[in-house]
Amino acid sequence: MSLSLVENLEKLSNAYGVAGREDEVRELLRQMLSPHVDEVKEDKMGNLVGIIRGKSEHPKIMVAAHMDEVGLLVKNITREGFLQFAKIGGIDDRILIAREVVVLTDRGLVKGVIGSKPPHILKEEERKKVIEASDLFIDVGASSKEEVEQMGIKVGDFVAFDLKFWRLKEDVVVGKAFDDRAGCAALVEVAKALWEQKEKLRSTVYLVGTIQEEVGLRGAATATYSIYPDVGLAIDTAIAGDVPGVKEAEAPIKLGKGPALTVADAGLITSPKLLRVLIEAAEESKIPYQLESGTAGTTDAARMAITREGVLSSVIAIPTRYIHSPASILKLSDLENAVRLTLAAIEKIQQKFA
Ligand SMILES: [Zn+2]
Repeated sequence: MSLSLVENLEKLSNAYGVAGREDEVRELLRQMLSPHVDEVKEDKMGNLVGIIRGKSEHPKIMVAAHMDEVGLLVKNITREGFLQFAKIGGIDDRILIAREVVVLTDRGLVKGVIGSKPPHILKEEERKKVIEASDLFIDVGASSKEEVEQMGIKVGDFVAFDLKFWRLKEDVVVGKAFDDRAGCAALVEVAKALWEQKEKLRSTVYLVGTIQEEVGLRGAATATYSIYPDVGLAIDTAIAGDVPGVKEAEAPIKLGKGPALTVADAGLITSPKLLRVLIEAAEESKIPYQLESGTAGTTDAARMAITREGVLSSVIAIPTRYIHSPASILKLSDLENAVRLTLAAIEKIQQKFA
């Protein structure tokens, strides 16, 4: 296990980067990528692009991981000093109550918790229902709107979940925003490995930290348009369904069985030509892998695939439990195998699509 992979995952997971406010993550990723690429650029949208130039430009390979995470947005401040909020990205209302959060203000971070009407005073019928996000609020300890404003909080401030990374056991870690900081950490390891063997690199590789994936694959749209790669790979997370109450057919991906290759999800059907190359890469390098098909979500690869005249695209996904919640769990061996599989895939793509 590469020590830097875990250290980077910890730093990236602890950083705040709600979609549209990726700044802190972008700066971290810039620091991590810079020593291992020829050039790092930032585009007008805020995507970060690291370039490693091989002997020729083609096949141009883009590897993307999104920097943003789901979160909240301050919508209104009540006279009594509570913050009402909107959701950014797909968040299940049931996971919001009593969560620790942090408001990202211009003047720094302000901690708070998500409050609700106490269950003791709910009517029997009300208690059975999910309390909707619109009925919840953030309590920062203030007793008036003026006090909230004095704390530096204003309407339009972004709010992130606040949970620090920790290791449950040797190979298992917990943290927020593994979707997709795990992908970002993998991206850095991929850059490092390519850079060490740069003389062997035939094509040019673009390592991209994208923005606003969670709100509609927006960063990937402009980054892919500008790079226009021959092949695009997204390193992202896959929903691991190996928990009580989930039927295998609903979510067959499991922790510890290796990265998942996407056959089809809600936005992408991987070209059989590329899928074959990815499977070959995994098998020849003896990397465990799982196939993901028919899942409801999608990734940056969906946007890459339909850019300009089309880009051969797919996903290498790290099995992760409880994504889009404040506490996600993954196995470091899966993360490491995702790095190995991405490198093996880059190698194969250079041979097959030259
Ligand atoms: Zn994701």
